[in-house]
Parts: sequence; structure tokens; C-alpha cells
Amino acid sequence: MKKVCKVCTNEFDGVHRDVCSWQCDEKRLKTLREELDESVKSDKSHVENLSKGDS
Ligand SMILES: [Zn+2]
Repeated sequence: MKKVCKVCTNEFDGVHRDVCSWQCDEKRLKTLREELDESVKSDKSHVENLSKGDS
């Protein structure tokens, strides 16, 4: 069964994986982590804005 890698869009054989190789897996994890960092940052600035509004 052919699947398409979510990172580099290569076709590959695999049933349980979403990516074609561990390199792409790491790349995907890195992207996920960066997105998580971004959401944490915007959470923090949101809290700061709220506390500024209180004073
Ligand atoms: Zn790939």
C-alpha cells in the first residue's frame, strides 16, 4: 500500500507511518514543537495583556 509522506510528499510503502523516513519524522516533530512554542508564546502575551489591562 502506497502512502504519501506528510513532510516531503514522497510516496512510500507503509501502513502505520505518516512519513517516509526518520528524517522526515524528526522534521515533523520539530515543526510540531515549534508550533507548540508559538502557541505557548501567544498564550503568555495574552496573559500579559490581560494583567496590563487590570492595573
Ligand atoms: Zn518524507
